[in-house]
Amino acid sequence: MEGSVTERVQEPLIRLEGVSRVFRTEDVETHALADVNLEVRAGSFVSIEGPSGCGKSTLLSLLGLLDAPSKGTYTLGGQAVQSLGTAQRARVRRKQIGFIFQGFNLIGDLDVFENVELPLTYLGVPKKESKERVAAALERVQMGHRKHHMPAQLSGGQQQRVAVARAVVGKPLILLADEPTGNLDSKNGAQVMDLLAELHRDGATLCMVTHDPRYATAATQRVRLFDGRIQDSTQSEERDHALAG
Ligand code: ADP
Repeated sequence: MEGSVTERVQEPLIRLEGVSRVFRTEDVETHALADVNLEVRAGSFVSIEGPSGCGKSTLLSLLGLLDAPSKGTYTLGGQAVQSLGTAQRARVRRKQIGFIFQGFNLIGDLDVFENVELPLTYLGVPKKESKERVAAALERVQMGHRKHHMPAQLSGGQQQRVAVARAVVGKPLILLADEPTGNLDSKNGAQVMDLLAELHRDGATLCMVTHDPRYATAATQRVRLFDGRIQDSTQSEERDHALAG
């Protein structure tokens, strides 16, 4: 099964083929996504852009295995995941995906350290290794000095940096960010974007929903949605740099 390095590099980390998502209520049918085809290579920084209601959140939910397509296939890291059951989906999600939300979503009655440790507890990582990884992740986002603070004692920008540490601590295949700067002022927003760009330079694969084009300029692949369809998908020259090095 050992392909050459070239073959492995060619294989995208994410592949969506003919993906649709239809929401049905009693009398309305909403085609939130229609026939979406998308390939994302390891080490890419993808921005998902478009006006409100165009399907950005739906696409991110599908990529994050929080939802399943009505039609089409989703291959993640070589595994077909579109028709997994709820429990299997949760397992893949926990292991392979790191989420960063607009509202940070830290647990209010756990301190910073415990919040970042939580995903590793779910993964059953031994205590000693877990402590080391949490400490390293907090250093990575420059929040090591606040490890015993509670979320409410932190600024929005600090909370989002902790949330980034929580997303990366499990070493997921992909990081998904939903408007990560949406609740931050421009200074804190810029800091969080710098941090995401740094993670990307270090080799992380990132997919980020944003409707602020200023933040999309850091992306190596820009996907523009309109009415549930990919209107335009552009890729910059910089690609696969993490694998090339
Ligand atoms: P965006 O994130 O770009 O604002 P969404 O992905 O949230 O767009 O929504 C795309 C379309 O799907 C919208 O018309 C929205 O109303 C509809 N939609 C999203 N989620 C649901 C749902 N759970 N039930 C019914 N319609 C939904």
